[in-house]
Amino acid sequence: MPGTEPLDLQSIVDDIYRELTPRLGEGKVADYIPQLARVDPTRFGMAVVTVDGSVYRAGDAEMPFSIQSISKVFTLTLALGKHGENIWTRVGREPSGSAFNSIVQLEHEHGIPRNPFINAGAIAITDLVLAGHTPREAIGEIVRFVRYLADEEDIVIDAEVARSEAATGYRNFALANFMRSFGKLDHPVEHVLGVYFHQCALAMSCVQLAKAGLFLAASGSNPLTRHSVVSRQRARRINALMLTCGHYDGSGDFAYRVGLPGKSGVGGGILVAAPGKASVAVWSPGLNHNGNSLLGSLALEMLASRTGWSVFGG
Ligand code: GLN
Repeated sequence: MPGTEPLDLQSIVDDIYRELTPRLGEGKVADYIPQLARVDPTRFGMAVVTVDGSVYRAGDAEMPFSIQSISKVFTLTLALGKHGENIWTRVGREPSGSAFNSIVQLEHEHGIPRNPFINAGAIAITDLVLAGHTPREAIGEIVRFVRYLADEEDIVIDAEVARSEAATGYRNFALANFMRSFGKLDHPVEHVLGVYFHQCALAMSCVQLAKAGLFLAASGSNPLTRHSVVSRQRARRINALMLTCGHYDGSGDFAYRVGLPGKSGVGGGILVAAPGKASVAVWSPGLNHNGNSLLGSLALEMLASRTGWSVFGG
């Protein structure tokens, strides 16, 4: 249990890395996107950026990886900025209880996905980000937004990953076509998915990701850049969605074990906000049966228990 002493965060992340080292490689690397299957499964990175601006790193914290569905947090933030609360006519706010790429609920709910963090919901959000733009402009806007959030100009999209996913993205095409058949996408499926595959292919390191997510831990403003990104209320609401929906059918388990708003991606990354404390990113490519990083979740469980940062109480 954390005591009243100030936390030695560097020792905590070092210990977590050391304790997990014998297990590196556990879990199953996503292989339905061929380019992701090539990643070294024994990689592990972790970065903690506190709201007072200190950065703590362990392992491959500076190595870029494919952020995949973590991008859904950034596009949701952009869509809310463009359209405000009107986005909720296109997507719900309830946990799905289904796999990240599930199609079944779309039929019952007439093309309205359950939440913005499953694939169908994120595709609907990307459609909203596209409003008034060509696909190329929308991709540029997303990249610029993430660079602005992280205050890092060298964040780029891995074009090979985007191509690889486009070539094999049958399920995402099915989801998008299904929504379009209900009149719930405003743009051609090829345009929406072209943007979606590129946002998923953003390559970022744990340090860059933690910096980009810092506004969620700090009531909507990034204390490093002093950028006011969203209102306090909006940051709180995005965190609520991450807590309830950020890990697909594993969201309940993640809340139980870690107790922090988080968003995972099939590249093995997880971004977490500890409100008032820190932004945390972890990367370990091996996934559990819900498609969330196996050791990444474990590392965050260890961090939450050693810091007392759970939103449900220390
Ligand atoms: N790009 C991936 C897909 O659409 C994202 C899924 C994920 O990270 N869970 O299948």
